[in-house]
Amino acid sequence: MSSEIINRPPAVPPAVPPAGDRLPQERRVVTEIPGPRSRELQERRAAAVAPGVSSVLPVYVTDAGGGVVVDADGNSLIDLGSGIAVTNVGNANPRVAERVGRQAGRFTHTCFMVAPYESYVAVCEALNRLTPGDHEKRSFLVNSGAEAVENAVKVARYATGRQAVVVFDHGYHGRTLLTMTLTAKNMPYKQGFGPYAPEVYRMPMAYPYRWPGGAEDCGPQAAAQAIDEITKQIGPGNVAAVVVEPIQGEGGFIVPAPGFLPAIAAFCRDNGILFVADEVQTGFARTGDLFACEHEGVVPDIVATAKGIAGGLPLAAVTGRAEIMDRVHPGGLGGTYGGNPLACEAALAVLEEIEEGGLVDRARAIGDIMLPRLRGLAGRYGAVGDVRGRGAMIAVELVRDGGSGGKEPDAALTAEIARRCHAAGVLVLTAGTYGNVLRFLPPLVIPEHLLREGLDVIEEAFAAVLEG
Ligand code: PMP
Repeated sequence: MSSEIINRPPAVPPAVPPAGDRLPQERRVVTEIPGPRSRELQERRAAAVAPGVSSVLPVYVTDAGGGVVVDADGNSLIDLGSGIAVTNVGNANPRVAERVGRQAGRFTHTCFMVAPYESYVAVCEALNRLTPGDHEKRSFLVNSGAEAVENAVKVARYATGRQAVVVFDHGYHGRTLLTMTLTAKNMPYKQGFGPYAPEVYRMPMAYPYRWPGGAEDCGPQAAAQAIDEITKQIGPGNVAAVVVEPIQGEGGFIVPAPGFLPAIAAFCRDNGILFVADEVQTGFARTGDLFACEHEGVVPDIVATAKGIAGGLPLAAVTGRAEIMDRVHPGGLGGTYGGNPLACEAALAVLEEIEEGGLVDRARAIGDIMLPRLRGLAGRYGAVGDVRGRGAMIAVELVRDGGSGGKEPDAALTAEIARRCHAAGVLVLTAGTYGNVLRFLPPLVIPEHLLREGLDVIEEAFAAVLEG
């Protein structure tokens, strides 16, 4: 069943040939990884680029599309990262490229705050229609996920007249001062960058694999604990917003235990607190729903989106209930580049591709292929502690194999498996508060044979490390 969905061609042929016609959809390793040309570029980079910006895999990219990334040495890697959940519709997606190219020939910038244009309005209309809930909504556009989350908090504070913001263990929300403060993990995101923003409070997350009382009752227990602590420590009447990722991304693809998000949303509703969903990583078909909140029928008051919205062009958005968004005075929100016309054209193309390409179904089909294979690994190796995720947002958490369910995180093993995958031409990412999660975010248009080959390589990496 899954093969049928994943092989289904888009309903409307794209305007220029698909990546597969331009780039062979194959894994091809012709040098060591990184190869000589990439190593040369890496040396230049070391002398020019601030080392605070790091790269998972320093192969220098010359081309990408479909399910592959091609490097300066001619290696063709299977892409299981999508530039961190961005190129959901594929890199250089033909429809995106065509619309962006056409727009670049007309005008590249006016600043929407100076002289507006239709595509910005059309993107906001689409977001208002597509984000969860059928209430009246308004949107505005910014440049990055962090900027979207930060603006969501600004709007929530303005609309409620309250200051406190509640976030969760293992959460990631960005690298600006406020969003770094909202982020849970110290190294590398916060270390040395304080003092942090005030009025941010962190609560326990319903992390089924690591919940002390076990996965079974994790959702209700974690929600009750968070609600109790909010009530004791802050007072619900002081809380402007609860900001939560419906599946935590950088924290390790932690899927909150069932019941957790609905209970928190209900508590917010009862106490005049705005429920802000950070759908930056989970949005735009990634999890097998257009937005991850839909899975449990949670309707947020405000949604922050970015990444998958525009096929790689820098765009992000804040979408919220009209009565909340309409409060803020003109000029209180915006920015020079927010809703750049090239990025808006890309977003409109992405939304068409998702709909016409059946990419929500494709994300589910990808999960249907990946999860059984990865669960097979968990059956074979005690070091695979947990396999989780939804749609095309899938991860395995690696632990020291204590034989009796030991859960001590094994970051070294995770790094070694990732290194072997990279050397064999498969681009995988790691994540997790403890650095012990291998995460997979394939482009939703990845050809099925590449996805299966990528899984073969992952299995071989596990066998080589764990069976010698
Ligand atoms: N929120 C979440 C859930 C994210 O995953 C990210 C990026 N990894 C951000 C916010 C920040 O987005 P950006 O890097 O575009 O600022």
